[in-house]
Amino acid sequence: MQKLGTRVWKSIEEHLYGKRGRPRFKNARRFHSIEGKSNAAGLRFRDGRVEWKGLHLPVRFDRKDKHRVEEHALSCPIKHVRLVRRTVNRRVRWFVQLVLKGTPRQKDKNRVAHGQPVGLDIGPSTIAAVGEDDAFLDRFCDSVEPLGREVRRIQRAMDRSRRATNPDHYHPDGTVKKGPRRWVYSRRYRALRAELLEKQRRLGETRKREHGEMVNRVLALGDNVKTEALSYRAFQRNFGKSVRDRAPGMFVEKLRRKAANAGGQIDEFPTRTTRLSRTCVCGAERKKPLSARWHDCECGVSAQRDLFSAFLARHVDAGYLAIPRAHTAWAGAEPLLGRAMARLSETANGSGVTPASFGLAEFRRQSRSPAQDGSACIEAPDAVPTADGRSGEPGRNTGLAVRTLRL
Ligand SMILES: [Zn+2]
Repeated sequence: MQKLGTRVWKSIEEHLYGKRGRPRFKNARRFHSIEGKSNAAGLRFRDGRVEWKGLHLPVRFDRKDKHRVEEHALSCPIKHVRLVRRTVNRRVRWFVQLVLKGTPRQKDKNRVAHGQPVGLDIGPSTIAAVGEDDAFLDRFCDSVEPLGREVRRIQRAMDRSRRATNPDHYHPDGTVKKGPRRWVYSRRYRALRAELLEKQRRLGETRKREHGEMVNRVLALGDNVKTEALSYRAFQRNFGKSVRDRAPGMFVEKLRRKAANAGGQIDEFPTRTTRLSRTCVCGAERKKPLSARWHDCECGVSAQRDLFSAFLARHVDAGYLAIPRAHTAWAGAEPLLGRAMARLSETANGSGVTPASFGLAEFRRQSRSPAQDGSACIEAPDAVPTADGRSGEPGRNTGLAVRTLRL
């Protein structure tokens, strides 16, 4: 009861200070978790099982524990225990969550480049990061998009079903009549609701996994993250539902937490003072339309827009871009950005789908330019994708120029 009271108070408090929306009343059916106050009394975890008021609930462990995460967790002191009910594939499952003291185990494969600055650029559907000796550009949280579309399809079907079974509850213009009334939910509606819950759960899980992987990729380049403070609200207004599904704000929060765990930090600077998207290392400023995916300057600097922006972000200090430093660093960073584009081009050849926002077309035009001595034409047969859909020879820059991409 005390824990419930704390939860109620917290949600009211956050509403009072304008941090969150109006708290909603939860009925028993929407109540999915319960936790103890400490591991000393009440709900507690002892000797590998949950104990609560004479109940002894055995727990299933991860027998393999490949990365020894569970082993590490169980060796930490327990602060309190939480029981969570989840419906997975329409079956109810109960999970034990232990709130522990200490730091989470870092898997061996996820090495953090301690103390290194890394520039980050998060777009509505792309992410670019530039570190000291590596860089990448990739789609951001792409696999949530089809799931999000599914969710909205089911929501529309549910709305149609509800309208058909409760015609008296609506005004002629389609809006809901006010006041308490009894809603009838058809069998079809309930089936759709179960399907919706499952889809939403999968969307959440997928996003969590993709965010986690992306956080690790960024931290592998450096744990001193520099990025523009995005106005996520403006982001959502301009780009809509698919951005909401990708939850860039949630990603930044996760990055902040994991960077702090590794001893680093994340520096979010204002867009207004840095103007990265229109600045060049030579100091020239020119406004680019959002559709221009390539940064081309009269001084000869040419790079993919998001990667270039991430590169510049790396050289922002105390909210201002150190142009001379960025200028000096550009010579060393240019090949990194080129390699990131080449890698992207490779994977695009394999999968066949890449958003036009990457500017791969420009990249191919560039890599065909004067430096090549015509060998690109000779390489052509090699570059034709093989039967398994992958390109013939990965990593050969000359081949890139002649490959055709389905965009
Ligand atoms: Zn320039």
